[in-house]
Amino acid sequence: FEALAQPGIRGLRAYDPGHDLVAWRRRVGPGLIELGSNENPWGPSAAARDAVLDCLHSLHRYPDPLGGDLKRALAAKLGVEVPQLLLGNGSHELLMQVGQVFAGAGDEIVASEFGFAVYALAAQAAGATLVRAPALPRSHAMPRGHDLDALADAITPRTRVVYLANPNNPTGTWFAIDALAAFLARVPDTVIVVVDEAYAEFVDDGATALSLLPSHPNLVVTRTFSKAHALAGLRVGYAVAHPGWVAVMERVRESFNVNLVGLAAAEAALADDAHMRWALARNAEERAKLSEALSSRGWFVHPSMTNFLLVEFGADTPMFEAGLLERGLVLRPMGGYGLPQCLRITVGDRDENRRLLAALDEMR
Ligand code: PMP
Repeated sequence: FEALAQPGIRGLRAYDPGHDLVAWRRRVGPGLIELGSNENPWGPSAAARDAVLDCLHSLHRYPDPLGGDLKRALAAKLGVEVPQLLLGNGSHELLMQVGQVFAGAGDEIVASEFGFAVYALAAQAAGATLVRAPALPRSHAMPRGHDLDALADAITPRTRVVYLANPNNPTGTWFAIDALAAFLARVPDTVIVVVDEAYAEFVDDGATALSLLPSHPNLVVTRTFSKAHALAGLRVGYAVAHPGWVAVMERVRESFNVNLVGLAAAEAALADDAHMRWALARNAEERAKLSEALSSRGWFVHPSMTNFLLVEFGADTPMFEAGLLERGLVLRPMGGYGLPQCLRITVGDRDENRRLLAALDEMR
């Protein structure tokens, strides 16, 4: 089948979500501490849980194919128009489809070194060439973050798409919206710029690329309900862009791509601002404590505006990773990102973080 697949798919490695979580859940049981996937340990709004239960009587029905109610709620919340919105089965789906729709063989897709793994997959699946711009150096105030000048320099007449995340996964770093505006001024309007805002809600001054949409028809902002809204299991993401972009993307969208339960829960979660604010405050508090505790033990912690920390453990990284797993703690190894000396740690709740530090102290 390898030979039968279209060239871009041949040799492509599927997205690797880290450890074999199913095997570890079976082995360790309910005590497993999962800090490997940037999930939200505080869980979704009670209103979202209720909305899920309310769906039980209509599971035999197809969902609204266009997700009209959720789109109207999003439009009102974000101050955009409904035709600017596209829903996805997670933002992952939307990121992949941008590559498919706007790039092909002979085209280039630009992303940063240490950019989110899905951008490389999207480029390969589209049969396009991935061009990596170097990241900011380790010594920079935003160590290993996106270098917007380097990204602009990497654009050629063959570039169709640029992917960048703000804040970025796996580094946790971020950039100012003024800097993004200066970057966009250097990008031809024939290039689609995807600003992946999966972690935007965690940014403490609320800055977002959405404010640049009116002046940049080639800008696409993707978001997710998986992180701040804690609905990772239901797979709901969305993109905000020019209505013309949405209309083209609609052609490849699977007819009922967002499920009935996901639509209902996302709408309820969106309406419960207080719950999200509460979870964001808990995250900020726990992240500061965890970051301080790890730095004080001598490990380099990258600055983070997200719900995870990229931590440099140096040559001992494989030892810590294996030892933590043995103690029932799952973190994300970073070898696949070219950072084998680092582990990415999701900020857990107070007890999880305490147990993480205790396990690390046993191994030091
Ligand atoms: N973008 C970034 C930067 C992410 O970290 C993630 C999830 N890890 C996603 C997109 C995809 O999220 P989802 O498909 O759950 O919306």
